[in-house]
Amino acid sequence: MIFKQFIDGEFVDSSTGEEYAVTNPANGTVVDRVARGTVEDARAAIDHASDALKRERTAKTNISRILQVVSDLIRAHETELATLMTLEQGKTLMESRGEIKFFAHTMEYYAGLKARGSQVQISDATKLAVVEKEPVGVVGAIVPWNNPILLMGAKVAASLAAGNAIVVKPASTTPLSTIKSMELFKEAGLPKGLLNVVTGSGPTVGEELVKNPKTRKVSFTGETATGKRIMELASAQLKRVTLELGGSNPLIVCDDADLDAAVNATLNGRFRNAGQGCMCVKRTYVFESLASKFLSKLKGKALAIKVGDGMKPDTTMGPVHSRSQRSKVELQVNETVLAGATLLLGGNEPSDPDLGKGSFYMPTLVTNVDEESRLVSEECFGPALPIITVKGITEAIEGANSSIYGLGASIWTKDLATAKKAASELEAGTVLVNSLYGAGGWEIEVPMGGYKQSGIGREYGIEGLESYTETKTIIFGS
Ligand code: NDP
Repeated sequence: MIFKQFIDGEFVDSSTGEEYAVTNPANGTVVDRVARGTVEDARAAIDHASDALKRERTAKTNISRILQVVSDLIRAHETELATLMTLEQGKTLMESRGEIKFFAHTMEYYAGLKARGSQVQISDATKLAVVEKEPVGVVGAIVPWNNPILLMGAKVAASLAAGNAIVVKPASTTPLSTIKSMELFKEAGLPKGLLNVVTGSGPTVGEELVKNPKTRKVSFTGETATGKRIMELASAQLKRVTLELGGSNPLIVCDDADLDAAVNATLNGRFRNAGQGCMCVKRTYVFESLASKFLSKLKGKALAIKVGDGMKPDTTMGPVHSRSQRSKVELQVNETVLAGATLLLGGNEPSDPDLGKGSFYMPTLVTNVDEESRLVSEECFGPALPIITVKGITEAIEGANSSIYGLGASIWTKDLATAKKAASELEAGTVLVNSLYGAGGWEIEVPMGGYKQSGIGREYGIEGLESYTETKTIIFGS
């Protein structure tokens, strides 16, 4: 079988007929083949999306009801979608199931949400002002490989709920579960053209979504460097952008923290999805009075992580998504250790010969780390954690804020005043206090996004919905 693109309600080949293989990061085998989309395919999808919006002016489809049906269908197809995602992405089946559940909940949440217009009293009482939220138009959505369905789902649900049409470009290495899920939108009766998926590379299909004058907004999730390129391209037409970019999220462990819970949060926050989450814990700052106990517990529990094929029920951490991604992490760890840091655990591929064909990397802990080292100053998108010892909260917050990123941050303390200080001083779009999720999590009901070079704009919540609208002021009266 070949996975085709989804354009104007139909599954179609690439305009050139080309296709490519999607491989399983756990063993290098081919999961399936997919159409290699082109600039022409992207243009066709954008044209169809634009036509679909014109039809909606009279059709006025009840999108909320359709999103609710899609949500039910996603739940009914959880196993099928989660399996496909584990095969193409690598994460454990349990993690994929969690992502599919979140996808269903996203559809349900946005099914019930409407943008908020308002009526405004102005000083000239003979006039009446109404502020409306209108759909922005055709949206181009560009998605990375780490959470292919969850991130696509938020863009699709919010933009459709706001009355837009959307063209999605999944990451080249994880298009299958996204394409499969399109069958559910079709079955639910979504009018053709409102939702399209074009596969293909970032520099071709991705850039066409940004440059095409018919797309009015681009919603991008991915690396900061790619986000900068997209912003540069979008500036030519002053196109609206939401950029959800990289993060180097700190977790602070104070001396009064619940030690076991803080260790669990660090483990879950760093090693879930093999460390490949924008919201994963990427640096830990631990008070020196607690450091040796913290490190010994952390190492003990990290040793118990079972690295393996995500399809196996006893696996607790799957492979890194690709060999090139593993090389990046390896380089960051090796250079940091060469610069004088101590490797407390890992720093290597697994010795199990059964895993030799996959892109696995063992859970890695590094101590005695400099703030300037690559592992701290760059985003590490894999299962390696630098741990920095600090004297107190002021030094911890200073270190945490020294990053160019500002996506998530987290603190473990029993002291309310310390928690409040950290929450207000940490430069991050999301701050977690005593949360087992680690450095940041997704709650669909609240906005999520980055300070500094972690992005522009917010997704999720009502803010996410409104990011797909234009604001129009209408004044009645002379
Ligand atoms: P990339 O930026 O490499 O790729 C993301 C998407 O952009 C892919 O679909 C890619 O296509 C596409 N792309 C690549 N180049 C271009 C281009 N020139 N123009 C348009 N599109 C392009 O990121 P990764 O896939 O490596 O994802 C990991 C990154 O995403 C991490 O930095 C992570 O922190 C960040 N992220 C941020 C989140 C947030 O909410 N802030 C959430 C999740 C991840 P192709 O696959 O074909 O290369």
